Amino acid sequence: MAIWRIKCTSCGKIREIDLGYNLFEFKKIFLYCPYCKKNTFNEVIEAIEEAQFPQSSS
Ligand SMILES: [Zn+2]
Repeated sequence: MAIWRIKCTSCGKIREIDLGYNLFEFKKIFLYCPYCKKNTFNEVIEAIEEAQFPQSSS
């Protein structure tokens, strides 16, 4: 599993998602954006290794 940082191309918000497949195969993915409250295209920015991801984030 990996955590991916993605950016909504509609509102520009960056967020992290936890997905079990390799998003580098996709330049953009169509996903639900909680800020836009609808499905939008999201740019894949980078992968965040779980070990480096701070547990304190809510
Ligand atoms: Zn959005």
